[in-house]
Amino acid sequence: MQLYQSNPIKIYNSLTGKKEAFKPINEGYIGMYVCGPTVYSNVHLGNVRTFMSFDMVFRYLKHLGYKVRYVRNITDAGHLENDADVGEDKITKKARLEQIEPMEVVQRYTVDFHNILNTLNFLPPSIEPTATGHIIEQIELISKIIENGFAYEINGSVYFDVHKFNETHEYGKLSKRKLEDLIHNTRTLDGQSDKKNPQDFALWKKAEPQHIMRWPSPWSDGFPGWHLECTAMSTKYLGEQFDIHGGGMDLKFPHHECEIAQNEAAKGKSPVNYWMHANMLELNGKRMSKTTGNTINPDELLSGNNTIFSKAYSPSVIRFFNAQSSYRSILDLTDDGLLASEKGFYRLMDAVNLLEDLKESTISSIDVSAWRQKCYDAMNDDFNSPILIAHLFEAAKYINQIKEGSETISSEDLKLLKETINAFVYDVLGLKNTAKIDSGTDKLSGAVDVLIKLRQEARINKNFALSDKIRDELAAVGIQLKDGKDGTTFSVN
Ligand code: AMP
Ligand code: ZN
Repeated sequence: MQLYQSNPIKIYNSLTGKKEAFKPINEGYIGMYVCGPTVYSNVHLGNVRTFMSFDMVFRYLKHLGYKVRYVRNITDAGHLENDADVGEDKITKKARLEQIEPMEVVQRYTVDFHNILNTLNFLPPSIEPTATGHIIEQIELISKIIENGFAYEINGSVYFDVHKFNETHEYGKLSKRKLEDLIHNTRTLDGQSDKKNPQDFALWKKAEPQHIMRWPSPWSDGFPGWHLECTAMSTKYLGEQFDIHGGGMDLKFPHHECEIAQNEAAKGKSPVNYWMHANMLELNGKRMSKTTGNTINPDELLSGNNTIFSKAYSPSVIRFFNAQSSYRSILDLTDDGLLASEKGFYRLMDAVNLLEDLKESTISSIDVSAWRQKCYDAMNDDFNSPILIAHLFEAAKYINQIKEGSETISSEDLKLLKETINAFVYDVLGLKNTAKIDSGTDKLSGAVDVLIKLRQEARINKNFALSDKIRDELAAVGIQLKDGKDGTTFSVN
């Protein structure tokens, strides 16, 4: 028996606007696709928040015993500066500005992305495909869409015919937009486009002579439109219909709307059963965004090397902060919020670290099974991590009370408590137990500082035998004292 059999999940489906009972297409298996980064710059913490929310979803589904195929792509071509299919390719532009190869740009920022995710204890996805690795699949899709009458070629570029599609299908059903309203609100880009209608979007763009990233196709030497890669890669690895598709809220329109249209136009099927959208991370009350420059990078928060926050925060504190709000809520990144999360994280971990020393009794004064089910219920309810954390704090309180002797726990319940805490704290939330190390390091610094002061006093009193003894004995246990003009410091070997 797998845990998922006794833990039915509800997922808020952006397509229907309702929380729905989740039923995978194949029992026990889940296909999940999440739009990955466009690797033309370092990821900021906003990008990371979305990926972190889906990392938690992936972790929980795996914890329940599902076999999850998690596909998260790398956009390494086709993402233009402007959603209206004009402007330069973001990667090509960066390559031009830095006078390096586009693939050097891609390599640099893909490595950065992986390093950051690794530092923040992400699980790697099952497959991480790239747009440039799937040009053939994208060309095949375009041919199919043209064949089915939903796209047209003009001057070597191919556009999706939104108006034609909308005659028989519903364009805008995910983002709840009507084509008539879009017609009203779209700016016409005079002379900048060959499109029949401004609402149409590019499936293939003919490359200008100076455009380096180009591939041969039946229509021209060019490159695929951005929305197409996700349709090609998600269905290639997960099937024409799959369970979950995720991304940030800002991708709902036009990106995800176009993904649905492309799939329906090519294969006659709506590709995704549950659309999940993570809400935005804000900084200074405004959405974190590369375009406006209102960003902070993970490195800057982890090192404390920035002018916005009072100190550095650890990877687990950043994860804990993120999990303390629902993935569907806007989250404001503030010093007060991070400080409160840091305090909470250490309070929880201090209790977790007491687990090994708890005394067992013959009976429990606490209903551990009921508490455990509340943790599962929280996550089963659309991955409600803030409620889960509230239950973990409840457990932290119990642990402290057991330690003080005002509550009791049986050996069987203690085992269950440990198992459940380990599962949620480490496997699901992806936290690391740094509390022991951190507080250990603090205490060590405190103790060495006392010895440094005593040595200082001994020197003032000309008791060099004692001052040397302190220095040598510390060295013998691997602590080196170093005298400098600003005083004495130490290092641990
Ligand atoms: P991009 O590299 O621009 O394609 O974005 C990668 C992912 O980051 C997408 O899923 C976006 O929705 C997401 N994203 C961008 N800005 C934010 C933000 N401020 N908060 C949360 N997610 C974001
Ligand atoms: Zn995508």
